[in-house]
Amino acid sequence: MHRLILVNALIFAVLASAIGLAYYGYSYTNEMSTRERAIILDTMQDLAEEKVIGIESQLVDSENKLFAAIDLEPLPDLETARRSQSAAVQSIFVLDEHLEVVPGGYASSPRRDREAGIAFRKMFLSSIAPTLPLRELELDVRGHVHTTWNGLPYLFSFVRRMVGDRTYYIVLEADLSHLIGVVFPQYFAVRSPRLYQVIDDRGELVYGFDFKDASAGVVVEQPFVDTVDLWRVRVAQRDAGGQAARGRRKAIDFILIGLSLSVILAGLGILALAMRREKRANELKSEFISNVSHELKTPLSIISMFGEMLALGRIKSPAQATEYAEIIWRESVRLARLIDNVLDFAKIERGVDVYEFAEGDVGEVVSRALELSVHRLQKAEMTIESDLDPDLPPVRIDANAFTLAVLNLIDNAIKYAPEGKKIAIRLHRDGDQVNLTVRDWGPGIDPEEHERIFERFYRARAVRLKPIRGSGIGLALVEHIALAHGGGVSIENASDHGAIFKLWLPVARTSRAHAA
Ligand code: ADP
Repeated sequence: MHRLILVNALIFAVLASAIGLAYYGYSYTNEMSTRERAIILDTMQDLAEEKVIGIESQLVDSENKLFAAIDLEPLPDLETARRSQSAAVQSIFVLDEHLEVVPGGYASSPRRDREAGIAFRKMFLSSIAPTLPLRELELDVRGHVHTTWNGLPYLFSFVRRMVGDRTYYIVLEADLSHLIGVVFPQYFAVRSPRLYQVIDDRGELVYGFDFKDASAGVVVEQPFVDTVDLWRVRVAQRDAGGQAARGRRKAIDFILIGLSLSVILAGLGILALAMRREKRANELKSEFISNVSHELKTPLSIISMFGEMLALGRIKSPAQATEYAEIIWRESVRLARLIDNVLDFAKIERGVDVYEFAEGDVGEVVSRALELSVHRLQKAEMTIESDLDPDLPPVRIDANAFTLAVLNLIDNAIKYAPEGKKIAIRLHRDGDQVNLTVRDWGPGIDPEEHERIFERFYRARAVRLKPIRGSGIGLALVEHIALAHGGGVSIENASDHGAIFKLWLPVARTSRAHAA
């Protein structure tokens, strides 16, 4: 009992550790892949930041140089000044405190033609300049506005200056086509393990690869701050293959964890099953011991009782003496058979090779078993119909073991089917085998128990409550003997009452060769 509790606790402990281990493996794999993803994300974020800082400082630097180059009183030639930083700047406005252009205070790159230049200047002065936060600016500090006019993007950078008590505003219009066409390509290399894009505030592509989030996997974003602040840089991982490989690795990890868990669970299941079987076998064994002791006791007490009567001369006639002697003889034969059964069974259980095979006539063996059963049949008031084919080929047989098997089948029919009054035995050839059928007209056996009755110690439910003695080893022995002969045994119920046991043996190879 204690052992059982211990083993159950052990199974439970193994189960708990297996589940714990699987959970640990699962979360470890998960954590690793999350960590890996976080590292990739961090690297990409750093990269995006680096790019934004690089681009902005290049832009701001050239603007600052230009601001520094513009003295106000007197005003230098703006066109010359603009050309010195021509790449980054599209146009320059120098405005007075009323936001009017001071004389000579406008220059524009020839990239915008004359007419467009005039139109832009008009629009700038009437609509854009009043909206710029010029007046709130601290002195000499660069401010900027990134905005859209008539569907086109503009970037204005500006400073407020004082000369004496006069205020000036210098406004630079950045050349965004230069930014997109020349600066971005310098920073966002095509041949890099990452994909870059710049998008505007509506998510529309301004520059770069039009990658979709899903296919690109990990994507990070970094907005511009000091310049085109409506735009954002987005970076994606180029190696979708690498991601797929990582996904595959994770899946394999999970499959392996699942597999090992299933193996452990299956192992525990089998162990639990084996334990249940063992427990059942132990129960059957103790039942067997009490059955066998009972079976030994009854014939022994009959023998001793009639032996005593004979010894004390308590007999009325010589005929009675013969009858008592016969009873003693019959019971001792039964006793001997039971002991044979138990001993053979014990040998088989121990794995000892108990058989001695020789080529022989199975018909003769069966006839002998029938002779040995005559008395028992008579006592049970049963008859036996035998139909033994006289022309059977020789078989490889252990005559003693096979007799025991046949006796067991006949004994069972006598024990369990006496009301049928008869038993039929048939022995005939069927192809390469010799079949022996033993049929009775008793209750038959519940089909659910057909397989189990050949198990050692098993007794059918129907007989357990009846006063029919038995040990449950007879049929186990019959099956063992049949298998040892290279044959087998089966049971079926007859359509009209009764059990039919079929025992078959292979025909000896030599006679098969003959037939061929
Ligand atoms: P035992 O007869 O000692 O109980 P066996 O192994 O010979 O053990 O038989 C196993 C069980 O099969 C029996 O207990 C009985 O329930 C059932 N059985 C065997 N032969 C017959 C039969 N001819 N008719 C009905 N039941 C049978």
